[in-house]
Amino acid sequence: MLGRIMDNQLLISGLLQHADFTSGDREIVTRTVEGPIHRYTYHDAHKRARQMANALQALGVQLGDRIATMAWNTYRHFEVYYAVSGIGAVTHTLNPRLHASQLAYIMNHAEDAFVFVDLNLISLIENVADELRGLKGVIVMTDRDHMPETTLANVYCYEELIDSHSDEFEWPRFDENTASSLCYTSGTTGNPKGALFSHRSTMIHAYASALPDVLHMGESEVILPVVPMFHVNAWGIPYGATMVGAKLVFPGPKLDGASIHELLVQEDVTFAAGVPTIWLMLLAHWRETSSSAPALKRTVIGGSACPESMIREFQDDYGVEVRHAWGMTETSPLGSVSIPKPSMTDDATRLRKQTKQGRPVFGVEMRITDDAGKALPHDGKAFGDLQVRGPWIIDNYFKMDQSDAHSPDGWFATGDVATIDPDGYMEITDRSKDVIKSGGEWISSIEIENLAVSHPDVTQAAVIGVPHPKWDERPLLVVVPADGKSPSHAELTAFLSDKLAKWCLPDDTVYIDELPLGATGKVLKTKLREQFGDHKLPTA
Ligand code: AMP
Repeated sequence: MLGRIMDNQLLISGLLQHADFTSGDREIVTRTVEGPIHRYTYHDAHKRARQMANALQALGVQLGDRIATMAWNTYRHFEVYYAVSGIGAVTHTLNPRLHASQLAYIMNHAEDAFVFVDLNLISLIENVADELRGLKGVIVMTDRDHMPETTLANVYCYEELIDSHSDEFEWPRFDENTASSLCYTSGTTGNPKGALFSHRSTMIHAYASALPDVLHMGESEVILPVVPMFHVNAWGIPYGATMVGAKLVFPGPKLDGASIHELLVQEDVTFAAGVPTIWLMLLAHWRETSSSAPALKRTVIGGSACPESMIREFQDDYGVEVRHAWGMTETSPLGSVSIPKPSMTDDATRLRKQTKQGRPVFGVEMRITDDAGKALPHDGKAFGDLQVRGPWIIDNYFKMDQSDAHSPDGWFATGDVATIDPDGYMEITDRSKDVIKSGGEWISSIEIENLAVSHPDVTQAAVIGVPHPKWDERPLLVVVPADGKSPSHAELTAFLSDKLAKWCLPDDTVYIDELPLGATGKVLKTKLREQFGDHKLPTA
């Protein structure tokens, strides 16, 4: 017997329509690419998204067409999210940090019909324009006065498109399983692969993300997503925040500590989201200027492991709660969040749990398995491949018939190696390809890195395995020293030795000015392995 409930489809356009209805006067503030601060409301955003929807249809955009964006977090990018997905086309966000050859590959693979581009990113599209097959036009996200000279063909001005179209538009209704947005990820091997989200997956993810024990989003919050809208849709915040009518603050292209601090303070931001690298810059700024952001209550930190020292500094020195979260492009991205249980009253236990990647968000099922695919116990010790499944986890990459990332029984293999403890907290110990195997035992590079950065003379740290004649591989510590400091290997190992098992201590330390970062801000261990892979260990 079926229930007698309306089969209304969950569509992204409904979010903005609802925000206009219920929180139409709530603000959306942007540091624009042109420079000044722009502010308007959900009501205005909805009106302009409808104008842009009309403009796109006039340009011939149809259901299922891929429309790319090469853009920072701004109100215009927000409007494009809703206009494109709202008419049933697919918002394909491009990462400006990609290499030109990857960018051309991705845009051709996606068969992008149009690309929206920010003023200061236009050269990235110019560089690959000759290689793009099937691109029909470029929309520059600015007004007539700021339109640049360009070598590109079929160029449109964003504000002119909006101005020349009516805001009378009825959002179309279609199947909620229709694709809504597309985001490529570098994955572990081969060419980048596309994660293709649907209206349904995005909407269920939005409901889940707003929950108090997830991102705690509500109308009274002022939310600043530092995490880019080109990286897994800014962790879904442009959808979840709109669902609840929260005030949104978009940082535009300026992501340095001082610029983020300015917005946090001026707009009374209560909740901000970003990767650890961003928060390192903000915390350094706060330390140098003896400042803080009094309204800020909470941050969600993810994308790579959040070091304990960062959690302590935010919470103890500034009263900002840290929510350490784990996820991937393939998981939309919310997978788990680490919040201590109410029964955990002792500070040390609470902090220890927060350094873990946390418990799965409802909707995500999680398991760890051994090489034979057998599920491992939740004892906090057994390491295994982390696998997940749920209504916002991909079941295959875009245009791929077969997935090599899924288990025979349909779980997505994340490529992360993790433990799960008896309280249900998952802890990532490595990417499977980064794991260090010493004498048959696994050593967690992330654990050493997190401890090493808590040394006062260390700004950043990475650990890679290098060949060893006896142990197969041993850990090498790569350190970016703090300004004017040069911590020796002996000092660093002495510092680590009361926190790590002896056989996990790095065999040597090398120094580097900065860590090589990939397009999404994660440390490129492949580059470090190229550079230091044949480093002669003193123990070898
Ligand atoms: P991406 O798809 O680019 O967002 O990268 C996803 C990968 O980032 C995951 O598979 C993890 O390896 C890593 N990652 C994300 N969040 C965390 C976290 N909180 N701690 C450690 N690694 C993380």
